[in-house]
Amino acid sequence: MSTKKRTVPAEELALINRFARRELTEEEVYTFPVVLCDNETDRDGERFSREALDKLAELFVGKTGIFDHDPKGRNQTARIYAAEVVTDTDRVTRSGEPYACVKAKAYMMRTAGSADLIREIDGGIKKEVSVSCAASKKRCGICGADMRVSPCSHIKGCYYGGRLADVVLDGITDAYEWSFVAVPAQPAAGITKALGAPDGFSAERKALMREIENSRSEIAEMKRDITAEIVRLGQFCVPACDPEWVRTICKNMNAAELLRFKEKTRAKARPGYVGSVLSHGSGAEEKDHSRFKL
Ligand SMILES: [Zn+2]
Repeated sequence: MSTKKRTVPAEELALINRFARRELTEEEVYTFPVVLCDNETDRDGERFSREALDKLAELFVGKTGIFDHDPKGRNQTARIYAAEVVTDTDRVTRSGEPYACVKAKAYMMRTAGSADLIREIDGGIKKEVSVSCAASKKRCGICGADMRVSPCSHIKGCYYGGRLADVVLDGITDAYEWSFVAVPAQPAAGITKALGAPDGFSAERKALMREIENSRSEIAEMKRDITAEIVRLGQFCVPACDPEWVRTICKNMNAAELLRFKEKTRAKARPGYVGSVLSHGSGAEEKDHSRFKL
């Protein structure tokens, strides 16, 4: 049984033939779309800048890809003949930018050795795309500091004012190879199902993610406030106590522990001081924090 043939438009065949030693016909080639990479923060806490994606789209044209389950397979390689950056304005990344990805078109030769593979791609094998490239710059996603020259204090994976600290890869100098990772073509529906990139999040999931980010940021702010108050109160319990020691102790506490610590510190502080703190509006702060008491 032969694999299903697809018609390759003449202009695409012309693009493919730029890489062939002889003129290929549409019956000889099998084409499919593949999403190489995007600007979403990955598991390593890194993401490509928009400029990096543009450069990658340019550099990956002509590059070969391999099926990772059989990198030595003679007929199991494909070559990218076109690539572009596609933006989805309805989808927002974790760093709050419009989602963008490098969408490529790849071809492979229809041979006896590739027939099974083509069937697998048509059938929709789910795998991830991985690309290897060289990035000369790594920037902090929060403040833009050059991580190689003058690293900042933002910690990858932490939230600052609701924003996730990640590392932005920029200054792409080379694109080497991409490993497969098939993306099934669905010509009948005219849709590219991009298995290489995470599926678009639903509105509900996006809202939940935003809520979690906001809560994290609020808790961090609240912990800073409570710590500052413990430091102030601490001066009246043990005047010789170094505020830095207190801050270090507080750093390892969760919000509930911090509140208990503050109460204990307040109880031990001199009455005159506590009275003056309350009269200066500390009572309002108390009210704000009370909802975190469990
Ligand atoms: Zn930074």
